[in-house]
Amino acid sequence: MSDRRLAVFAFIDAFGWEILQRNPFLEEELPHRAPVETVFGYSSTCIPTILTGCMPREHGHFSCFYYNPSGSPFGLCRTLSLLPKSVTRRGRVRRYLSKGLARWYGYDGYFQIYNMPFDKLPYFDYSEKRDLYQPGGIENGQPTVFDYFRQTRLPFHLSNWRESETRNLEAAVQDIEAGGVRAVYLYFYELDAVLHNHGPEAPQVQEKIAWYEEQLRQLLHTARGRYDEVRLFVFSDHGQAAITEEADLMPRVDRLGLRYGQDYAVVWDSTMGRFWFFHDEAREAITEALNGLDCGAWVDDATLERWGCDFPDGKYGHAFFLVRPGVLINPSYMGEVRLAGMHGYTPEDRDSTAMIASSHPPAVLPRRLDDHYAMMVAEAEWAAGGAGGPAPAPPVPAHVPVKREEAA
Ligand SMILES: [Zn+2]
Repeated sequence: MSDRRLAVFAFIDAFGWEILQRNPFLEEELPHRAPVETVFGYSSTCIPTILTGCMPREHGHFSCFYYNPSGSPFGLCRTLSLLPKSVTRRGRVRRYLSKGLARWYGYDGYFQIYNMPFDKLPYFDYSEKRDLYQPGGIENGQPTVFDYFRQTRLPFHLSNWRESETRNLEAAVQDIEAGGVRAVYLYFYELDAVLHNHGPEAPQVQEKIAWYEEQLRQLLHTARGRYDEVRLFVFSDHGQAAITEEADLMPRVDRLGLRYGQDYAVVWDSTMGRFWFFHDEAREAITEALNGLDCGAWVDDATLERWGCDFPDGKYGHAFFLVRPGVLINPSYMGEVRLAGMHGYTPEDRDSTAMIASSHPPAVLPRRLDDHYAMMVAEAEWAAGGAGGPAPAPPVPAHVPVKREEAA
């Protein structure tokens, strides 16, 4: 009987199925591969879905900003909006300010004000104030897979998202060498930035993937020297599409002369405008202003429901205008830089599709991001099953999706 088992989960942001098809990556070590359907939104939607096994409408995470003037932590930004644009548009100024605000309010989540106009910030609240990876990090209180590990006393190693990839790898290898952990969760985020900056076809992407390949090969080698059985699961949250077109959509709404905060509100993400309408005329005018454009379309309610993004009370917007894959809304509240790759399009697009590649057939094959939770729980149970492990884990908590809304 084998006695020392280790399950390694390596999350690589934006390593999509199509990108995996185009680049060599641990073919021998990870022969089991499958596309995984993503969820609508950005990593701020996808990661909570992976960690909880719940769809966005349940866990409550979507984009960072949602309309909530009475609960907004950004009141003091009103004064900052008087500063000249040459100061306020600087990335460094915004990064310092994000840090300062996070410290002031005691937020430990991933907190960034991006390119949000300072005069608009006081209308919004922020959804990732708490660290997702720590207990109580999920908006609607669902436990994550790490809470499950903690609850079942499974010794595990978890990357620190504030640290560099190299530091995180070193820390993981150290814990593997010590031999005390049964599960390792590695968090890699740099590929996403490489794809944004250079596009999915660029040689830099191949270089970065080759680097992951080398690092994970070494880690596997170390782990196999220390444990009797090691399983490695590499997976992602979404892919990226090459940007072929930019859409300058903000002026189309600005020129209607509606009052922000009284008639309507909007957050311009990189691929969608999320609108709140405060009366019917505003709704009609804005709907009409963006109707019939070639670059995108309004997402209907049935589609949002199918995507699991029908949030109660329109928390993240009463209506979403979504551009088609390959279009970048620029400028937007997220930035005004010309990018080469983007995500956050329809989850049905092939460039949006995520992936899993593993050394063993997963105990539960993930078909969509919300299946990863059950997969990780099952593999952790396998890892715990060896001698010297913790007591057998209790059954999977009831919130794990048993039903799934099949896409029509
Ligand atoms: Zn990204």
